[in-house]
Amino acid sequence: MPTFDTGLISRIQQANDIVDVIGEHLALKRKGREMVGLCPFHDDHRPSFNVNPGKQIFKCFACGAGGDVVKFIQMRENLSFPQALHRLADRAGIKVEPLRPQHAQHTTQDETDPNDLARVNVWAAKFFAANLANPEKGKDARKYVAERQISDESVKKWQIGLALGSGSDLLAAARQKKIPDRLLTAAGLVVGSSLSDKFVNRLMFTIADVTGRVIGFGGRTLTGDPASPKGFAEASDAKYINSPTTILFDKSNSLFGLDHARHQIASSDTAVVVEGYTDCIMAHQFGATNVVATLGTSFTAGHARILRRYAKRVVLLFDSDTAGIEAANRALQVALASRIDIAMANVPEGKDPCDFLLAKGKEPFERVIENATDVFQFKWDRLVANLGAQSTIAGKKQAVDEYLDAVAIAISAGNLSHIERGLYINRISSIVAIDAKDINEELNRRIGRTKTASAYSGAADDSHTPLDLGEVLSANAQREILEVLLAEPLLFDDVKEKISPEDFDVPALNKTAQAIFRTLPVKPQAGVQDICGFVEESNLAGLIIKLEDDSQKKGNFKKRLDDALRALLQERQKTQSVVKPGDEKLRCPGQDRRVVGMT
Ligand SMILES: [Zn+2]
Repeated sequence: MPTFDTGLISRIQQANDIVDVIGEHLALKRKGREMVGLCPFHDDHRPSFNVNPGKQIFKCFACGAGGDVVKFIQMRENLSFPQALHRLADRAGIKVEPLRPQHAQHTTQDETDPNDLARVNVWAAKFFAANLANPEKGKDARKYVAERQISDESVKKWQIGLALGSGSDLLAAARQKKIPDRLLTAAGLVVGSSLSDKFVNRLMFTIADVTGRVIGFGGRTLTGDPASPKGFAEASDAKYINSPTTILFDKSNSLFGLDHARHQIASSDTAVVVEGYTDCIMAHQFGATNVVATLGTSFTAGHARILRRYAKRVVLLFDSDTAGIEAANRALQVALASRIDIAMANVPEGKDPCDFLLAKGKEPFERVIENATDVFQFKWDRLVANLGAQSTIAGKKQAVDEYLDAVAIAISAGNLSHIERGLYINRISSIVAIDAKDINEELNRRIGRTKTASAYSGAADDSHTPLDLGEVLSANAQREILEVLLAEPLLFDDVKEKISPEDFDVPALNKTAQAIFRTLPVKPQAGVQDICGFVEESNLAGLIIKLEDDSQKKGNFKKRLDDALRALLQERQKTQSVVKPGDEKLRCPGQDRRVVGMT
């Protein structure tokens, strides 16, 4: 276990305000002295996630997650403790020595530090941008950019660049910079056993995560465009390609532009999702800044889960006529599984959103979004149109059948509560003009009896606390002492001579005690954030936050400490002295090991 300079940890904590950092990952609303939002660590239906700006900690009341800013990043981005420290040091521009030698032997791809990948990606983004800006090399690509009316400002904002045509251009430049081949491969910038550039002769779009960290790239072919030079013989190439899946990048869980759009998404409570990079960029260029793009995939439940943390409503904006019944079915399932309102819209006049914006401007674009149709209605409208169902009774019956089939499939996947289901049924009833009771019966028949009401109860959310505190007799006293020290660190003077971490024999409490006994001698007024900074396990941080929180509610610190201390010392004496036969029944079996050889 690497140890870290405590000064460095607290410098990193201080430079990364927890509200700012967490606010990048979910929308936080003020509630009294705290900020609340939907927990990113469990399937949250009400805001259970609290951030305390004063203490610089977070806590989820439903799943028990909790900790300081380092713990949040550790859990959220699946990083180790040292990696999370590095990530936040980078974020704040603090220079930190590498934790292990860069030239470590036997490093496999799995061991690649995500921070290293992000740094390579930043370098690559700059490299691509320099190509595009190069008066000679970037000339034709810039002509294409100008024809698409992407402004210079947008080129800069979105870090648009150019991959040249040689096939080893990036590789050669990286090697010159002494960037190891294995990092280039792990980042997906270089591919194949003979190592060649992944992106060749393409206009490059830089893909960032919600925090602005560069996680991957998308490249649009320049071959076959009037603007491109002749001679690049890859006509069969896909129009768009993305970075492969890496430890940083997974396209079905990433949205292009979210780093630029999240503020407006949160304040408008609506996220608009388009299909292309240029559609997204053009929307922002025209001032519609709540727009993001999927990365060559359809809109998934993963996307919905991300957006749900910022907004209640998603508008899927499709190119003209690409949104058919299939798209509606998928969106229905995502809506019900993710409990987010989805509306759908098509850009009129055979255009994509980018062309439409250029031709008509911002206001008509916003009107298209405002007039988006709720996905339930959208699906119905399409069915009716396809089946000509309005005209005949048989047609209508067929439409209703198909409609309810689709809804039933979506409901089965959605794990909805009874109340939620009732709300949807009312909505469906008003769309197809059939009584809600009949709809309910029809749906039940379709869903079948496999899923009983209990499966929908949602009670699974209230999961157990992450660590079992055990029921050992002295555990209560141990817990009480730690609670008090977390809430009132200055009382440490009363205990430091009398007990040590060894007196805490419940594993989780022992670890907590170690952190407290290490921190308080060097930082007498240490807050819960400082103690958390000392522990590497996120579930332990959750426990520490909970102990402190419970303690504040109880108050009365001095008296509680004295009582608990007395109880613990008595218990210690009892187990260390000769045990009389009559005492046997007072002890718990788990404590017998302390009296081995004494009876
Ligand atoms: Zn939670």
